[in-house]
Amino acid sequence: MITSRFAPSPTGRLHLGHAWSAVQAHDRAKNEGGQFLLRIEDIDGTRSRPEHVAAILDDMTWLGLVWDGPVVFQSERVPDYAEALDRLHASGRTYRCFCTRAEIEADIAAAGAAPHAGDKPPPHPAKCRYRKPQDVAKRLARGEPFAWRLDMENAFAPHFGIGWEDEIAGPQTAWPFAAGDIVLWRKDAPASYHLAVTVDDAAQGVTHVVRGRDLFEATHVHRLLQAMLGLPTPIYRHHPLLVDANGDRLAKRHGAPTLADLRAAYPDGRALADQLRSGTLPNGYRSA
Ligand code: GLU
Repeated sequence: MITSRFAPSPTGRLHLGHAWSAVQAHDRAKNEGGQFLLRIEDIDGTRSRPEHVAAILDDMTWLGLVWDGPVVFQSERVPDYAEALDRLHASGRTYRCFCTRAEIEADIAAAGAAPHAGDKPPPHPAKCRYRKPQDVAKRLARGEPFAWRLDMENAFAPHFGIGWEDEIAGPQTAWPFAAGDIVLWRKDAPASYHLAVTVDDAAQGVTHVVRGRDLFEATHVHRLLQAMLGLPTPIYRHHPLLVDANGDRLAKRHGAPTLADLRAAYPDGRALADQLRSGTLPNGYRSA
């Protein structure tokens, strides 16, 4: 049986791009008698808001997208992420990173980094991968906050050649270097997006991950984490994104209308969802 999910972060109201994604995730499972899950990715307590959670549930209902089972909240699953982190520590490929954002940016600038193409590891974020144990001990004794990162090159080496199936892009070979030594556990919040999403998709038995093409690079990382944690690999479907008449991606920063804004023009959310299904998009938006 197909199990898909929609996994919004409650950091704002849903906009049309979210609806576009949610409809595709819903239909991928429901058209074949499968189940559709809703997961609230509220792991970042500083940016997530309960009022946005309520609005997401309301918008989903308005669109006629009914989810199966209870809504899962990432904020309630931190012990599972901690357990996965422990298993990754056992690989010997995790390390503490004490760097501040400013230090990392300064290091990258000093290395003269051009915008990164994703075909080889980006400049190493500062010096933490090979910090001397004495230095680490000193910083820990001072109570310096740290994140856990993955030493990507060495973590990936034993898994070279792993891949996954994308329903739109075809078979893929993992090449997880675009984001460098990714953060597994954050300084300011618990588990990173990459760790939480990988653990959750497996725990929830998701067989088909339907999400936007903007997350394609992340899947390379998720595939590696699955291999390291011994988790199954779902089938992926990275769908095209909605763009406006200028070709800009629909996102809040471009002033994309929220679903709340659209309710005036579309009193019936199910009709709007059907319009998205048929590809007749409002406001001159198109899929690209
Ligand atoms: N929470 C992520 C977002 O809202 C989506 C995660 C996913 O689909 O894997 O962008």
